[in-house]
Amino acid sequence: MNSAEIRQKFLDFFAQRQHQIVLSAPLVVKDDPTLMFINSGMAPFKDYFLGNKPAPSKRIADTQKCLRVSGKHNDLEEVGYDTYHHTMFEMLGNWSFGDYFKKEALAWSWELLTEVYQLPKDRLYVSVFQGDDSENLPMDQEAFDIWKSMIAEDRILMGNKKDNFWEMGDTGPCGPCSEIHVDLRTDEERAQVDGKTLVNADHPQVVEIWNNVFMEFNRLADGSLVKLPAQHVDTGMGFERLCMAIQGKRSNYDTDVFQPLIQYIAKEAGVVYGENEKTDIAIRVMSDHIRAIAFTIADGQLPSNNKAGYVIRRILRRAVRYGFTFLDFKKPFLYKLAAVLADQMENVFPELKAQLSFVQRVIEEEENAFLRTLENGLKRLDALEAKFKENNNTIDGKTAFELYDTFGFPLDLTALIAREKGLKVDEAGFGVEMEQQKNRSRNASASEQSDWVIIQPDVETEFLGYEHDVADSHIVRYRQVKTKNKSEYHIVLDRTPFYAESGGQVGDTGYLISDSEQIEVLDTKKENDLILHITAKLPQQVDATFRSEVDFERRNLIRKNHSATHLLHAALRKVLGDHVQQKGSLVNEKILRFDFSHFSKVTDEELREVENIVNQRVRQAIPLEEQRNIPIAEAKEMGAMALFGEKYGEFVRVIAFDRNHSVELCGGTHVYNTGEIGYFKIISESSVAAGVRRIEATTASSAEEYMQQQLNELNAVREVLGTHSNISGAVQKLQEDNKVLQKQLEQFELKQLTSLKESLVQKAQSIDGVNFVAEKVDVSTADYLKKLAFDMRQAVENLVLVLAAEIDGKPQIAVMLSDNLVSDRKLNASQMVRELAKEIKGGGGGQPFYATAGGKEVAGLQAVPAKAQELVKGLLQ
Ligand code: ATP
Ligand code: MG
Repeated sequence: MNSAEIRQKFLDFFAQRQHQIVLSAPLVVKDDPTLMFINSGMAPFKDYFLGNKPAPSKRIADTQKCLRVSGKHNDLEEVGYDTYHHTMFEMLGNWSFGDYFKKEALAWSWELLTEVYQLPKDRLYVSVFQGDDSENLPMDQEAFDIWKSMIAEDRILMGNKKDNFWEMGDTGPCGPCSEIHVDLRTDEERAQVDGKTLVNADHPQVVEIWNNVFMEFNRLADGSLVKLPAQHVDTGMGFERLCMAIQGKRSNYDTDVFQPLIQYIAKEAGVVYGENEKTDIAIRVMSDHIRAIAFTIADGQLPSNNKAGYVIRRILRRAVRYGFTFLDFKKPFLYKLAAVLADQMENVFPELKAQLSFVQRVIEEEENAFLRTLENGLKRLDALEAKFKENNNTIDGKTAFELYDTFGFPLDLTALIAREKGLKVDEAGFGVEMEQQKNRSRNASASEQSDWVIIQPDVETEFLGYEHDVADSHIVRYRQVKTKNKSEYHIVLDRTPFYAESGGQVGDTGYLISDSEQIEVLDTKKENDLILHITAKLPQQVDATFRSEVDFERRNLIRKNHSATHLLHAALRKVLGDHVQQKGSLVNEKILRFDFSHFSKVTDEELREVENIVNQRVRQAIPLEEQRNIPIAEAKEMGAMALFGEKYGEFVRVIAFDRNHSVELCGGTHVYNTGEIGYFKIISESSVAAGVRRIEATTASSAEEYMQQQLNELNAVREVLGTHSNISGAVQKLQEDNKVLQKQLEQFELKQLTSLKESLVQKAQSIDGVNFVAEKVDVSTADYLKKLAFDMRQAVENLVLVLAAEIDGKPQIAVMLSDNLVSDRKLNASQMVRELAKEIKGGGGGQPFYATAGGKEVAGLQAVPAKAQELVKGLLQ
């Protein structure tokens, strides 16, 4: 069975059992402060488990793209070395939200594995939670009994809290789980060692494939467990591991999920996979990492130097580095792999193929940058080599950490290079530095969250902000969040006009007003789909009726900017082409910022055209056409631009300003008529990353203010120039005049220099057979001083020349000697200038025949000629 069939059979199996099949959510998480990337199939459904929102269907199944490279689940360092952990993998899952429970879940998983996929029963083991005294939890007898009816009792293993009690995080839904493991060893191996002893023992051929979690409890902040009002099933099966088991392979990498990538890499590298452990690891790393890299970029996360973007950059660098070191890829290569992957995944995750050229561009640029960094890091190591040799042939921990932190060299790479140079690395010292950095970031982000205090249970917030700025509301629940130097409250209301930050639009601010008090709402944020009103204070009477009031002025400016962003997007596609895709946006009360895919600078003419189109649409006063809750297919039919990387439900909201012009899926707040925007003005166009451009613009009164400022400046220039017509001509003329004057000034100075030289020649005085000149002179630049000295050398033989001058307010001395004085009389200009520089509290040097010095004390220049005379007399004796 090939992998596509295996995936399809899973989905069909659960569809036949009344499960709604949904699409994978994007890998990148936007509205959850506790999670950067989706790391398990259940993550997109957190709200349903937390009871924040009812599930759209009681039974759901899907294949979900997961990434385990940061936070609680981090498998990154294993990847490539082992054969069954990936950075990105697909998790097949089926869910019950308050519907079926253990009996159905376990029976179906058994039926699917043994009957549909025909996995031999004598290669499967299952585990059951054994109970935990400290938590006062009994053994999961129910699961045990269900298993006993299907599988031999000695294949049911007891597992402890670590392996068989699943928790979403420090707090939240949790419960016992039951895992299914498969033993893929040969019959010989199986005869020698009982498979049972290898379960959960990190054996590469005895691996967990499926976990069935039974959500029964909620973990509170104080660590206690309370029973959930409804019980849920959450299962997750590793797709790549399942393929390994069904296809009878010993490694995930030997399945048809990875082979196309692996064969491509091996061919390009000119090696054979399976012949050499080192190159095999590198090939596995690259074939794995390209999946994580390509899909996160396709899902909207660009590599960058912080947060989620940095995680991706690190994965990409790890891949480049393995290719560079072990497969001799010295030029960008990963981006080519993205094309192989896109073809392979086209039917399951079309988002990659659809954006392939953009994704490739981003990857290639990152590869180029990192290959340069690698080279610089290698140079840095070379430069410090002597120092390491002195340091007992050891690269100190600080340097190793610097290489890691700024050059992206993981410790093992540094160690590898060190070995080639006959050096060691102070790994303990590296560990200390690493720990310190971790502590720094931990302290910076440490926060403490209280449990929710529930005022009204089971109330789903009604969002009124599309029509209203004011509403009567009640508090449903609240909690306190303490960070290092502040404490704030998160308040959830039953009805609210406040828009929570999302889709680039900032959160609303305003007030909650009751009969007795007024609480300021500082910001509004989303946690998954929960709308949190952030306040510094908690109302004294939490069960009062509040008039919740959005800062209307501010909201109005935001609406204009948001609608203008849509018009801008449409105009860009019209002027630049359909390849323009939104890659990020920010909409606040001051500006709108729009990032989009485009491969070259947007020219001034193009910008003007875009601006004109937007302003035309503004003047056409196009009414808003808003459609809420329409099926996504219908929205696409209307021509809505679906954004990759957004999590959309089955039903979406469509915002159109003229269906032939701008139709977008959007949850933001908008003007009722484009005329409200008033005026649109682009302020800047720039590059954010490879293939991504950014436009900043402003609307309405801000745009007017901006234009007024520009005009004011222009008027000020007119005033200064004293002319009102042809300003640029006047400025050009000024610049030309200036050039001419500069030339004249130069010529004048040169003439002066000549006469200065002539007068100095006259002043030459004979000391012991040399021609001695020492003078304080008037020149305006160091270049002129130098020219004067060299001109003198031409004009006078046997010359000892000392010049002192004040240049730009600072004292300078120059000493010039004829060559024969250096060779025959052993005079040295460097030594002399250093001696003389003492007068001006300075220092300097140069060559034996010519040297200069600078200093701090201008007044000391006076004494230099006399001192020079004394010095020369002494030296010539
Ligand atoms: P393991 O102990 O093997 O790391 P896990 O306990 O972390 O697995 P779960 O969190 O229960 O796994 O995830 C459910 C399923 O997802 C696992 O049974 C496994 O098949 C698969 N899985 C987990 N992590 C990975 C990974 N990094 N790469 C591929 N598949 C994975
Ligand atoms: Mg794990």
